[in-house]
Amino acid sequence: MESSPDPMLNAFTVDVEDYFQVSAFESSVARERWPEFESRVVANTLCIADLLEETNVQGTFFILGWVAERFPGLVRELHSRGHEIGSHSYWHRLIYSQSPGEFREDLTRSRDVLQDLLGIPIRAYRAPSFSITQKSLWALEILAEEGFEIDSSIFPVYHDRYGIAGACPEIHFQETASGRLAEFPPTVFKLGWWNLPVSGGGYFRLYPFAFTRYCLSRVNKRTNHPFMFYIHPWEVDPQQPRLSGPSVMSKMRHYVNLQSTETKLRMLLSRFEFGRVDRVVAGHACTNGSVCG
Ligand SMILES: [Zn+2]
Repeated sequence: MESSPDPMLNAFTVDVEDYFQVSAFESSVARERWPEFESRVVANTLCIADLLEETNVQGTFFILGWVAERFPGLVRELHSRGHEIGSHSYWHRLIYSQSPGEFREDLTRSRDVLQDLLGIPIRAYRAPSFSITQKSLWALEILAEEGFEIDSSIFPVYHDRYGIAGACPEIHFQETASGRLAEFPPTVFKLGWWNLPVSGGGYFRLYPFAFTRYCLSRVNKRTNHPFMFYIHPWEVDPQQPRLSGPSVMSKMRHYVNLQSTETKLRMLLSRFEFGRVDRVVAGHACTNGSVCG
């Protein structure tokens, strides 16, 4: 067994939202009811931040504007620990369910909450549930127009809620009429013609750690490319209240293996090198340029 971490710097990201705000539950939990739920996002996010501190890793936290407004101390704490702060929208609405105007309003509201709190420009964005798809590619131009430089929202897979199956799986640049955006997709592992999602969230909880490690090592070594890992605060919280409305499939995806996430995260952090998205993109652009053109 290899003991030293791979030298390549990979991106570690967290989508900061509470357990009742996820897209899979949105038909059961109306946004007006969010304040009625017990919030667990601060403790869960700090749990992940503490794990990162153990291995001296700085990552990127894409924070929901609604959460940032209610818990400004959390945003300041993450920033003071050296993490990059990005936007995960304000209301966690799927982009393709909004008009371009509604998207811009939600985006700028989330950006302004974060910018006002920290006094720095917010440059990185991740869409709720990776919802930049063929139907909502127009969002890229609005992101560039509103000052964003990095996006991590286009999942190169087939899935019922997100994804563009044939999208470029590596860091690349999207040219828009309003400027250039670096796109860093969640990582997939190529199995023949199939792109297997292997980079975080429910997939990380579902697969045995040895399988995740194998796939991610292969991405680093075979394609000489950094991977993009993502996780949510509620994924390290097996005690979170169970919601009653959602479908069996949604519940299975949300609740599977929550009890082992923390252990798996520790193993992941000891096995690979991680950093903030902006630094990974900058380092990769210097050495490799755009792979997909
Ligand atoms: Zn989310």
